[in-house]
Amino acid sequence: MYIDLLGEPFASKDTRLSIARKVQKQLLAEAQASWPHEYSALLYGRGASICGHLAMPASGHDRHSFSWDGPPFLQALKQIRHSRMQWLGVLHSHPHTPPTPSSHDAAGWHYPSLSYWILGMQTPATPLWRVYQWVDGGFAVRSYTVSDDSE
Ligand SMILES: [Zn+2]
Repeated sequence: MYIDLLGEPFASKDTRLSIARKVQKQLLAEAQASWPHEYSALLYGRGASICGHLAMPASGHDRHSFSWDGPPFLQALKQIRHSRMQWLGVLHSHPHTPPTPSSHDAAGWHYPSLSYWILGMQTPATPLWRVYQWVDGGFAVRSYTVSDDSE
């Protein structure tokens, strides 16, 4: 069966977006290791369930803007396709600001079907997780669950 690479994690009314606990833990550990610089990753899985991530190298020199170079990005998508998973979202950290999308974030987001995660690390001991969906020209906060599924 052919599966679209580009997922639609918000498409089902019955299935809430979820992220595996181990993925959330790894994302946090990697974001903390990158602090005070920004960290970003692609999130993948199936349907509305995120079960893995690929850390992305930071691009350019502006640590306050979230952008990726073409080759590593395409390489990551290829890897997701090869593992027969779907690209379900992106995550980046805000090392010094609240987990609210910046105007740069809004201008740079081109995949409205995906989930857009921001990890606020102003106080690294109590990180703030937010997930957004792009709706009608703006980011709307969405809820999610953390799953303990082991694979
Ligand atoms: Zn941002």
